[in-house]
Amino acid sequence: MLDNPVEEFVIDTYKLQGLRAKLVKTLREKGIQDEGVLTAVGKVPRHSFVESAFAEQAYDDRPLPIGDGQTISQPYTVARQSELLELKPGMKVLEIGTGSGYQAAILCEMGCKVFSIERIRSLHVKSQRILTDLGYKPRLKWGDGSPGWATYDPYDRILVTAASPSVPDTLKKQLAINGILVIPVGDLKIQVMMKITRKSQEEFIQQRLNEFQFVPMIGKHGWKEEQL
Ligand code: SAM
Repeated sequence: MLDNPVEEFVIDTYKLQGLRAKLVKTLREKGIQDEGVLTAVGKVPRHSFVESAFAEQAYDDRPLPIGDGQTISQPYTVARQSELLELKPGMKVLEIGTGSGYQAAILCEMGCKVFSIERIRSLHVKSQRILTDLGYKPRLKWGDGSPGWATYDPYDRILVTAASPSVPDTLKKQLAINGILVIPVGDLKIQVMMKITRKSQEEFIQQRLNEFQFVPMIGKHGWKEEQL
């Protein structure tokens, strides 16, 4: 059950639309160049994915709490990870860490077929409801996403939105040839964004990019609860 099943649905006012347009401008100034990503950020109502009290702050470029000790990622992080994926409409994308559902909405808005896994049940249920209300139709699953979702592999793209101690082999194996995996890898404090491209059955190219800070990926191929 949701804590608050009759939570107010905040209308997309002109003010919120204006703040969203400003956010797109900010992301452009910070270096995001993928027009598809910027267009999606300009369309998806981020305020719908946070508590109504945070509606206006939803368009600041910063993470916000979404309950259960988790966060909706900073818009720059969402845009940068999406840009690194080099997305095209029709691509099959697996996301590990649905959280609020905002990143999944961006991927849907870009025309991708989205699969997303969340380990915290209340977030899984809430994100499903919000995404459905907004008309997005990703396939969502509740559980540990660190082993991926073999039922629907191979994926053109895999995106991990929580910090991982290493690159799980199982995720690499679920990539299509020429597929791209974007995953933050490091310790619990700081991670390096990794972009891994599968060139053939056995050959992978690995790029280390900028540093980011994510909440931990907890599970079979992530951290164990007792390590936190
Ligand atoms: N993509 C999310 C969004 O748009 O709101 C933000 C994700 S938040 C930074 C990271 C999420 O990963 C949290 O909701 C957390 O519960 C989830 N998570 C952590 N470990 C996971 C795992 N093994 N499988 C699936 N989800 C996991």
